[in-house]
Amino acid sequence: MSGDDILRDVASQSEDTEFYTPMPDGYRRGQAKYVVVFGTVMSGLGKGIFASSLAKLLQDKGLRVAPIKLEGYLNIDSGTLNPYRHGEVFVLDDGMETDMDLGTYERMLDQDLTRDHFATSGQFFWAVLQRERHGEYQGRDVQMIPHVTGEVKAKLRRLAVKTGADVVFVEIGGTAGDVENAYYIEAMRQLAYEEGPENVCFVALTLVIEPSILGEQKSKAAQLGIKRLLEMGIQPHLIACRAASPVTDKVREKISIYTSVPMARVFSMHDEASIYLIPTRMRHDQVDRQVTHLLNVMDRVDPRAEQKAIDVWEEFCDRLRRPRHEVRIAVTGKYTAVRDSYASLLKAVEHAGAALDAKVGIQWVDTTSVTQANAAEALKDADGIIVPGGFGVRGTEGKIACVRHARENFLPYLGLCFGFQMAVVEFARNVCGLAGANSTEIQRHTPHPVIDLLPEQRGVKDLGGSMRLGGKDVELIPGTLASRMFGGAATVRLRFRHRYEVNPDYIERLRAGGMVFSGKAPGQPIMQILELPDHPYFVGTQSHPEFTSRPLRPSPFYLGLVAAALGRSAVGPVTPQESKR
Ligand code: GLN
Repeated sequence: MSGDDILRDVASQSEDTEFYTPMPDGYRRGQAKYVVVFGTVMSGLGKGIFASSLAKLLQDKGLRVAPIKLEGYLNIDSGTLNPYRHGEVFVLDDGMETDMDLGTYERMLDQDLTRDHFATSGQFFWAVLQRERHGEYQGRDVQMIPHVTGEVKAKLRRLAVKTGADVVFVEIGGTAGDVENAYYIEAMRQLAYEEGPENVCFVALTLVIEPSILGEQKSKAAQLGIKRLLEMGIQPHLIACRAASPVTDKVREKISIYTSVPMARVFSMHDEASIYLIPTRMRHDQVDRQVTHLLNVMDRVDPRAEQKAIDVWEEFCDRLRRPRHEVRIAVTGKYTAVRDSYASLLKAVEHAGAALDAKVGIQWVDTTSVTQANAAEALKDADGIIVPGGFGVRGTEGKIACVRHARENFLPYLGLCFGFQMAVVEFARNVCGLAGANSTEIQRHTPHPVIDLLPEQRGVKDLGGSMRLGGKDVELIPGTLASRMFGGAATVRLRFRHRYEVNPDYIERLRAGGMVFSGKAPGQPIMQILELPDHPYFVGTQSHPEFTSRPLRPSPFYLGLVAAALGRSAVGPVTPQESKR
């Protein structure tokens, strides 16, 4: 039976069929290929980093790639997840709140993604239950197989049609053996059967451990982990071995024999100083060539375009490897224990550092113990400071003390969302003389609610997906630092995730005190960027510019901060390109 026959079978929707695979209009088998990445042994191995690096290598070859992350959890999106447990909540331009891996894909591929590129079990079950209520299953009992697995495959195929992708990269959240993602893995097995040979490539990520008491690498956990996948009907084509140091041939051989994957396709994916160095390593190990052969897409490769892309990327990597300067940026944060909760921020700093030939060290400052009396001591080693996004009361007075120290001592300052709001509170209290000024998020009945709920937020009861979310245009005021940093652009597009704003009733008083609002929502009195003249760099934004910073197109906000921390002009010789998007 040919693959097309299989597809015809599964697409038949008579009442008693056991097949259920809705096919989007215009779907052509073999047009889009699939790379599916599974995790074994444990979570947090960097499936997103592997998948995005591989996707980048294929994109460099001129292929069109479309990544998608499938999450096992029942939440509809990642918006209600605690970053302490799950890493940061990333926000897409269309307002979808997603897992941090979507940020990795956007950065690595320099591509804006949408909700089509992200799904959770909650979304699939929701869709299936709604269909059931609408009577769409015509008397059938609704089952995990074929109905839920059918939705999963349909989502991938719709993405393929919509993006015209040559290769769809599917990242399965969690680890083989979890209850939550078992039906995803089953759906991928079906997908491979239906799409036929050379159309689906399975990749298993695994972990090679090196216990310090033994001093050698051990492969058993990896073997057993991959065995779980084999039991579920997934024969990987490729295995990526995560490890601290390069995986030895002996260990690769063991894994190869155990899994029937040839040695040439068992890769060592050991730690690198930066994730941006991983694509280069994978290219040297020919992972990309293995995949283009397995998927038979060699004829879609454009070698000229590839060489150009490689040259640009290598130039960036060289700057990452050999920084000529060093600065230290303090970051105040509630989640100081978990780096992942600030993933995009750290990347944005890295992008800006690379553009300015600088290695940027991060100093975490837990503000719960910072006061006006010890702020100077806490920040004595910092060349600049970031107060990032945040929610709730904890540590806010310490943040405000840090802002004051930065303002009064000309320490370069960047306030992001909550950090923008804290800069307003500090300025209102200590410059405008509005004693007790605060955000109503922190103190409901403050005498001076300089930060207050957005009017549109007043009636909002639901917690999920209800903030002011996603990409929005920001109008820049000519002549300001913000306008110059964006090369004179009239508007820029930035991403948002907030409920509170500068209270419009206080804008004039803040201005009278000397605060400059250099960016605002077009046609609305929502202030989006602030700056202080007579300070080397004191900038805040209600947005999250870290979500749109890209390796080769760093965010001007971060460039400005790092430049100022290096003692240079915030509008330096690098031309930020964010404004030209
Ligand atoms: N808690 C603030 C608000 O909701 C800031 C949010 C943020 O930093 N993302 O407006």
